[in-house]
Amino acid sequence: MKCRKCAACCIAPSISSPIPGMPNGKPAMIRCIHLNENMLCDLWGKAERPKVCENYSPNPEFCGNSFEEAVRILNSLQ
Ligand code: SF4
Repeated sequence: MKCRKCAACCIAPSISSPIPGMPNGKPAMIRCIHLNENMLCDLWGKAERPKVCENYSPNPEFCGNSFEEAVRILNSLQ
């Protein structure tokens, strides 16, 4: 699946590992501070980008067909 760059995965899930500037990770439904105005990750390609983010790949099972559907699915997995 090609990423539609909706950024649901940078907003909906909680992330327990530290993120630069977010030492305790990210609570669910809180926008990551590295998500820029173009809905892209400012840490893309940088060593400090969390491993959990690097390891995440778009997948219809998690991403659904829209931002709203992805948020619903990702929240149900919390
Ligand atoms: S670090 Fe980047 S990929 Fe990870 S949640 Fe934040 S914006 Fe998204």
